[in-house]
Amino acid sequence: MSQIVVLLGKPGAGKDTQADFLSTQMNYKIIKTGDFARSLAKKNKNITQTLQRGQLVDNGLINRYVADEILKDGWHGRYLTDGFPRDLEQAKWFDDFLSKHKIAVTKVILLDLPDEMAKDRLLKRGRTDDTGETIDRRLGVYRDITGRVIDYYRQQDKLISVDAAPSPSQISTALREALA
Ligand code: AMP
Repeated sequence: MSQIVVLLGKPGAGKDTQADFLSTQMNYKIIKTGDFARSLAKKNKNITQTLQRGQLVDNGLINRYVADEILKDGWHGRYLTDGFPRDLEQAKWFDDFLSKHKIAVTKVILLDLPDEMAKDRLLKRGRTDDTGETIDRRLGVYRDITGRVIDYYRQQDKLISVDAAPSPSQISTALREALA
């Protein structure tokens, strides 16, 4: 039986670190749409600009990537999406896609952190889209657009909120409990 976990959280909440832990400790296969978006940006100037502006990449490209990643090893095992779905359209598409294969999102984990702490962490990390202005835009996109995804999963009673302020190992313990 497949397990599909969605990991949500604003930029800086620590999704990548926690996804790496879950990959090694609980054998989750990670589907990271941010890595995919960055690989597209290397080949395409428009997408480079989209990332620099902190905007979202076209849903068609993102959804196809997610579908391919799940389909390529035939649905078996545990999957965790990191950074997806980012808007309501992706969330609805995902439900539709999964239901065609008679499965559903199992749990949704929200790594919860105040904006100020997220911003501090991102400025220390220093990726190319971690400049002050782009960070503000990404936090704005998260609040205005991804916020609806959070409500969507809350209404489905699938949302589990985990405090993302403590140390990575404390968050990891809380996450493993949430997924047990
Ligand atoms: P992340 O590494 O998850 O913070 O994503 C970095 C950037 O990649 C985002 O600011 C978006 O431009 C793009 N991106 C990542 N995931 C998605 C997604 N699910 N839908 C659209 N764009 C995305």
